[in-house]
Amino acid sequence: MSNFLVIVCMPISGSVEASMNAKNANGVAFSDGRFVPVGEAKISVLDWGFSRSDVTYDVVHVRDGSFFRMDDHLARFERSMLGVRLTAPHSMAEIASIAERCVALSGLRDAYVAMICTRGSPRVFGSRRPQDCDNKLIVYAIPWIDVIPPDVQARGAHLHIASVPRIPPASINPAVKNYHWGDLTRGLFEAHDAGADTAVLLDRDGYVTEGPGFNVFIVRQGEVLTPDRGALEGITRRSVLELCEMLAIPARIAPLRKQDLLSADEMFCTTTAGGVMPVSRIDDHIMSGGKPGKLSSQLKSFYWEQHRAGWHQTPVNYSA
Ligand code: PLP
Repeated sequence: MSNFLVIVCMPISGSVEASMNAKNANGVAFSDGRFVPVGEAKISVLDWGFSRSDVTYDVVHVRDGSFFRMDDHLARFERSMLGVRLTAPHSMAEIASIAERCVALSGLRDAYVAMICTRGSPRVFGSRRPQDCDNKLIVYAIPWIDVIPPDVQARGAHLHIASVPRIPPASINPAVKNYHWGDLTRGLFEAHDAGADTAVLLDRDGYVTEGPGFNVFIVRQGEVLTPDRGALEGITRRSVLELCEMLAIPARIAPLRKQDLLSADEMFCTTTAGGVMPVSRIDDHIMSGGKPGKLSSQLKSFYWEQHRAGWHQTPVNYSA
């Protein structure tokens, strides 16, 4: 496999930067070796990332001008690429500075920053061999996104247990962050049809996995539990487990079934794009009087307090 080589020249020239500044309110992307306003970033229709979902990615957030757990996101992105035999045409150190440059050029203080590696398209026209493809890197920074809108988080999200099972890990490894969202999207449609905000999916044996863009937790008799299978090893999930340890709250990764959700005292979801997001209802089971639970609210506040205290923060150099 020969890799797509791009020489990154940084910083980009003042005039390009100045012309971008007018257009960067919606974010900045790095694609095909250039920094461009996000609306101008393109992917070829022949890229297998588009036609086969042959792609992996990671998302890190910037809050108040600092990356959160950037090293952990880079490490997971590197593992994901290895897991599906993709090789980015840049080193991990270069990817980190490209991401920082996207944020700096956008001027965003709160941002959703994605790094994506696609298979690319074959060098030999018509080849069906993934080894013949030049892998591509795309990075972009866009304004902050909440997977569950803030007003819904404030009242506690309403979840629906989807009838569609999560793709089996033996087919698609959920620990490799991916765009195989067919099952999650079906779950979302089901949830919206049922009047819920979002969905949680079980595996084919009835064990709880995750939802569209988040991990799930329950609280049962003062203990915090998150599923042991079928899910991305979320960085926010790891953060919550660490925060529980700091607060001396018992927490554990364990097998969970549908009935565990339907009898939980509290429930919350976790993601980079939103943090700790309380749930107040799952199907017909209403928790904490239809409001965010006490422990969920405590963990949500503590998560953001720790951000402000500098926990795992890497300040963005906006003049780099
Ligand atoms: N599960 C899925 C399917 C996701 O897409 C995500 C994040 O996008 C998560 C879980 C949460 O992972 P993290 O906390 O690393 O953002």
